[in-house]
Amino acid sequence: MNSTLCRTLRKLLADGFEQYNGIIDPAVYERLECPDPKKAYWVCSWPILHCLGCRKRCTPKDISGFQVTLPMPEELTYEGLTAPQLLKKKLLRVDEAAFCLNISHSLVRKWAKCGKLDATINKPVRVTSESVAKELENIDV
Ligand SMILES: [Zn+2]
Repeated sequence: MNSTLCRTLRKLLADGFEQYNGIIDPAVYERLECPDPKKAYWVCSWPILHCLGCRKRCTPKDISGFQVTLPMPEELTYEGLTAPQLLKKKLLRVDEAAFCLNISHSLVRKWAKCGKLDATINKPVRVTSESVAKELENIDV
């Protein structure tokens, strides 16, 4: 891998791209008229894919022929955020915590009250993402 490619890759990774490890239909390379499929190195920020391997830097216009890998497009989100993204915040609203834990708002309030979740004293109630994450570990998935 040459240095320009390294730099491109680093930039893409910084932009949230990840190495794509899904299965790719050989027809994809035909469609892209890729000169060197063997050198293909794919990164994806689903559903955007880039190939950094060949000199053409193939960028397919659509995802047909690519196996869907995580994160799935239909991954559960709340107001556009997934649970791990929400948990990056320090404090969560009752509705956000309820989404992460997949429990009702009233149960979050109850848990906050009894100390099962660390909550702020002031209204409106906010629970720490740390305590939510801890509860998540206790839940069998
Ligand atoms: Zn290519």
